[in-house]
Amino acid sequence: MLEELKEELVDLLQELPENDLVCLTSGNVSIRDTRSGLILIKPSGVPYDQIDISKIVVIDIDGNIVEGTYKPSSDTASHLYIYQHYSDVNGIVHTHSRYAAVFASLGKNIPVVFTETAEEFGGEIPCSDFVLIGDSEIGKQVVKYGKGYNAVLLKKHGVFTFAASARRAVDLAILVENSAFIAWHALQMGNPEGFNPEEIQTLYYRQQNIYGQ
Ligand code: 13P
Repeated sequence: MLEELKEELVDLLQELPENDLVCLTSGNVSIRDTRSGLILIKPSGVPYDQIDISKIVVIDIDGNIVEGTYKPSSDTASHLYIYQHYSDVNGIVHTHSRYAAVFASLGKNIPVVFTETAEEFGGEIPCSDFVLIGDSEIGKQVVKYGKGYNAVLLKKHGVFTFAASARRAVDLAILVENSAFIAWHALQMGNPEGFNPEEIQTLYYRQQNIYGQ
């Protein structure tokens, strides 16, 4: 079932190691099918180059397995919590990308030191409290700290991004890491000036409403 969406998920999953956002089997991606409401998610702990459509797990919004023989991602309950609380979210990505994880390890937000962070996130990328993996606790943190944002750092853990499409959520995961990389390096070299709130809002509005075709 949902073969095309499974293909899309397999392709998007490959983008995590291709963009150096994960180490070995860390990270995950899920997609919500807008018609059926079913969710497709990465199988837990399977190396990315071994994931094909036969290993994708299909679940309903309550976590019941609808199709698939593999155990779903260990972050499944958290993905479901986010889908349950954001009806317009249809794609979720989790990574352990390096520079973002450095900020997360210190419990620090990623500051807005260059325009791209303002344009894509409309402010600092917030860092949550620390919670243990397993149940829906991570999802609760993402919903709590993610209000008005589309990315959250999980304290001492990694990154969650969420968007109307899984394609956009993967792009956001790439952009989070770029923002973290630039911010970390800027902070090593000096004291970045940053932007005032009006500049951030102007940059964000332009990127979201005017930029591109
Ligand atoms: P899964 O392989 O179970 O998705 O776990 C990866 C991970 O990064 C958990 O936080």
